[in-house]
Amino acid sequence: MALLDYKIATIGSHSALQILKGAKDEGFSTIVICIKGREKPYKMYNVADEIITIKDYNEFPKIQDTLLKKKAIIIPHASFITYMGHADVEKFNVPYYGNKKILKYEEDRDLERKWLKNSGLTLPKIFKSPKDIDRSVIVKFHGAKGGKGYFIAKNERDFNKKIKFHPNEKNYVIQEYILGVHMYIHYFHSSLTNEIEIMGFDKRYESNVDSLGRISSRDQLALPAEKVDPSYVIVGNMPLVVRESYLPRIIEMGENVVKQSKKMVPRGLFGPFCLETVMTPEEEISVFEISARIVAGTNPYTHGSPYTWLKYDKPMSTGRRIALEIKNAIRKNQLNKVLG
Ligand code: ATP
Repeated sequence: MALLDYKIATIGSHSALQILKGAKDEGFSTIVICIKGREKPYKMYNVADEIITIKDYNEFPKIQDTLLKKKAIIIPHASFITYMGHADVEKFNVPYYGNKKILKYEEDRDLERKWLKNSGLTLPKIFKSPKDIDRSVIVKFHGAKGGKGYFIAKNERDFNKKIKFHPNEKNYVIQEYILGVHMYIHYFHSSLTNEIEIMGFDKRYESNVDSLGRISSRDQLALPAEKVDPSYVIVGNMPLVVRESYLPRIIEMGENVVKQSKKMVPRGLFGPFCLETVMTPEEEISVFEISARIVAGTNPYTHGSPYTWLKYDKPMSTGRRIALEIKNAIRKNQLNKVLG
C-alpha cells in the first residue's frame, strides 16, 4: 500500500495542531475529529485535510468504521485518553500509534510508581496516612484535570483543615512536596531502531502557583486564604534548555524507563513520552510522574527544539517525529512495530 493511502488522525485538542502539521510535513493526509464548535484553530492553521465533527466524545466509537475505511492511524494525546477513558481506548479497533498495553501502568498510580522505582529513578515519598505527614506534602486528587484543587499541607492538622474544602474527593495521594525547579523531559523511543532521543524540555505555567511570587507576602496575607493557596491549573508551557552536563544522566533515565517497560509488557514503551521532574538544589532529579505519550510541553517546538535541530538539521517537532516513524515503518513493511 502506498504511503499516502494512510491518513493521520487525532482529536482536536492538546497537541493536535503540532501532530497534524507534522504529519502533513511528512506527506500524509490528515483528519481531525472535533467537538462541534472547536474547529476554528484547525481551519485557521490549515493543518487538517478533513474535519469530522461530533457532538460529544462518547460518539467517537461510532465513527470508528469511517476512520477504518479512510485508513486512518490514530495518534493519541492526553486529552484523547482522558476523554475516551483507558478502557475504551483499549477496545478501539482503528490502528493506534503506541503500545496500548502500557496504558494501565500509567493510569494505576501503584503500577506507575513501581515502574519508575524499578527503573532506578528517585521518587517523592508517598504518605499512606495524613498521620504520617512529617514535611511539606502536595495532595493530588485522582483524575483532577490539570492539577485543579491540589493543595499543600505541612502536617496532619493542616491537611485536615484543607481537605474539608474537598468533601467529595475520596481518592487522593499525599506526596512529598519537592522544592526545586521543574523540568519536563520529552523523549522519543523508536521501536524500529531501538534508539532513544531527547526531543526537548519545558516548564509549565500554572495558575496561581506561578503568580504568587508577584505579590509580597504582606499582600498575600491580606488576601483570603483560598486566593493565596497555591493551585496548579496548567495554562501553558515554556521552552527550556538544560545544563549540558545533565544530559548523560537524563538520557540514561529515559533508557532505563524503556528497558524496564519491556519487562512489564511485550514491546514495552515506544514513541514519545515525558518524565515530569523537579531538580533540587542538591542536583537530585525527583520524578513525580510519567506521561507515556506526546505531552503538550512539546507544543512550543512546532518548528523543532534546539535538541531536534542538532539531530535533524530540519524542523522536527515531536508530532512530525511520530509521522516520520510511521512513514519509516510503512517503507520497511513494519507497521506492526509501531501500532499497538
Ligand atoms: P498531568 O497529568 O497534566 O501531568 P496531573 O493532574 O497528573 O497533571 P501533576 O503533574 O502530578 O498533576 O501535578 C501538577 C503540578 O503540581 C505539577 O506540574 C507541579 O507543578 C506540581 N507538583 C506535582 N507533584 C509535585 C511534587 N511532588 N513536588 C512539587 N510539585 C509538584
